[in-house]
Amino acid sequence: MTRIFDLHADIGRELMEQKSKGEGISFADRHMKRLAAGGIQYSAAACFFTGPETWHEMKEMISLTAEQIQSHAGMILSPDDLKEDGDMAFLLTVEGMCGINAHIRKRITWMYEKGVRMASLTWNDFNLLATGLGGDPARGLSEEGRRAVKTMNSLHMIIDVSHANEHTFWDLINTSKRPLVASHSNCRKLCPHPRNLTDEQIIALAEKGGLIGMNSYSRFLSEDAENQNAAMLAKHAAHIADIVGHTHVACGFDFMDFIHFLKEKEETDICNASMAQNFIEALRREGFSEEETEDIAWRNAFRFLKDNL
Ligand SMILES: [Zn+2]
Repeated sequence: MTRIFDLHADIGRELMEQKSKGEGISFADRHMKRLAAGGIQYSAAACFFTGPETWHEMKEMISLTAEQIQSHAGMILSPDDLKEDGDMAFLLTVEGMCGINAHIRKRITWMYEKGVRMASLTWNDFNLLATGLGGDPARGLSEEGRRAVKTMNSLHMIIDVSHANEHTFWDLINTSKRPLVASHSNCRKLCPHPRNLTDEQIIALAEKGGLIGMNSYSRFLSEDAENQNAAMLAKHAAHIADIVGHTHVACGFDFMDFIHFLKEKEETDICNASMAQNFIEALRREGFSEEETEDIAWRNAFRFLKDNL
């Protein structure tokens, strides 16, 4: 099996779901086994927030996720924590900062101290800081959002642009002094979903030294049901490689099979961690060399974090 670095997995919410049932929390059984089955050695553990969720709720999920990672696996906090021959390790991330509606610097610093190393300012909705793709297209990053970017840059907390609307995306490109990541987004050229990136966005991310994680979610793969598969995901990777080079491509699968409250279940050949190697095989079939395949599978993300944490 080729080792994999997955830049997006909604683990925080699933842990909160377990906690709310009051049956004790199983990080190793629910997540580490699942990831190991597909060769995923490094994974993001994302804490997702939207709508009216508060700072208190953000603190609760981030604390629980950090505590679970630290009691079962490695936690990637600095370049030294990235070990090629090490055990399974997690990158604590945040998706949407709706709870940061005051005390911006203080709250982002709290997140950093808890171990958060990558975060997006907003999910599909909008908040005080920024506007997601479901928000007003004329609104981008706010003044408060610019302050958040400055704080994140100074802490070396990586800014994730997945879910940002185009206005916010370009504001982030122009405001951030450090490289940006689209942790789980594909190419709009191959699948015209607003969650996917235009070629101009892909070029801008690459020019800034950024990275794009390939997303397995069927509706971001193709409008055509028969092309919602690992082979198509490899075509998204190849499109990015064609325009900016394969060193900007990574994995950000966004598997959601383990989130029980989601009713809609995916039925493709790339819909849970145990199928992750199907993408790796598809990269080889797409014509990527063995070295390029490994770069996309894990080394690009690994190197990016070595250079940017
Ligand atoms: Zn997402």
